[in-house]
Amino acid sequence: MNEQSTAVRESSPVPPSEGPVIRLEGVYKTYDLGEVKVQALRGVSLNIYRGEFVAVMGASGSGKTTLMNILGCLDRPTRGRYYLDGVDVSQMSKRELARIRNRKLGFVFQQFNLLSRTSASENVELPTVYAGVTLEERKARAAEALARVGLSDRAQHFPSQLSGGQQQRVAIARALVNRPQILLADEPTGNLDSRTSIEIMDILQRLNEEQGLTVVLVTHEHDIVQYAQRALEFRDGRIRRDRTIEDRLIAREVLPTLPGLEQDEPEEAVTENRTNG
Ligand code: ADP
Ligand code: MG
Repeated sequence: MNEQSTAVRESSPVPPSEGPVIRLEGVYKTYDLGEVKVQALRGVSLNIYRGEFVAVMGASGSGKTTLMNILGCLDRPTRGRYYLDGVDVSQMSKRELARIRNRKLGFVFQQFNLLSRTSASENVELPTVYAGVTLEERKARAAEALARVGLSDRAQHFPSQLSGGQQQRVAIARALVNRPQILLADEPTGNLDSRTSIEIMDILQRLNEEQGLTVVLVTHEHDIVQYAQRALEFRDGRIRRDRTIEDRLIAREVLPTLPGLEQDEPEEAVTENRTNG
């Protein structure tokens, strides 16, 4: 009865001392559009262990976002099982899923999805409203999360007063504010220039390393994949390859080698701060 996985793991990271934090068993997702049915996932089996940093890649339409929506408890599999932290969540109600999502998962998207008339600090605080903590605790958590992404000095800024990279850092802080175990990021660097993208990878790598946060990141950029530990390649709703990244890049080592150490300030002194060569 050994369900054959569609992809063979080419090498394994640290031998897992505990169960996987994410376990998918034969997951299918079919979108029923009446006349047409779209099979977005066709039998995905997968284990992700605590503290892993996984990149998900594949052509447009291969099922990456569908996978992330299921991992993030935003959607349920049509068939198959999803065990999150050992608990089968594949049959849970939307209400139960919302609770789990709020407690265990953080999300980052390509569009930063910040509220525009709301300060960085208030944007970050928002998910704590449902976490049942005091106002004081909410403020403290928001400040802590902003500090973790290096934005303490921008807490009172509005999104329009921040660069794209800074806005994405606010979005990461918002994702961290309820202290999730897993961070799910769908093309988080898709709207950013290459240097800013690596700064975002630096933050994600540090959170992964220092806090043991499990990171699952969708990207179609091959240079971004090199910052992950493991890459899953999707094709037609299946995992076609699951490999360990050789010669993984460390963002904090790469950043000093890049040209143009400009300050991230859209309003003031954008040109004056550029260093040439
Ligand atoms: P990717 O993120 O890799 O581009 P998606 O997971 O968004 O892929 O989509 C996988 C397939 O499922 C595509 O064929 C897409 O058109 C289809 N699909 C995605 N979301 C929906 C939806 N809500 N309703 C119907 N079809 C969808
Ligand atoms: Mg997508």
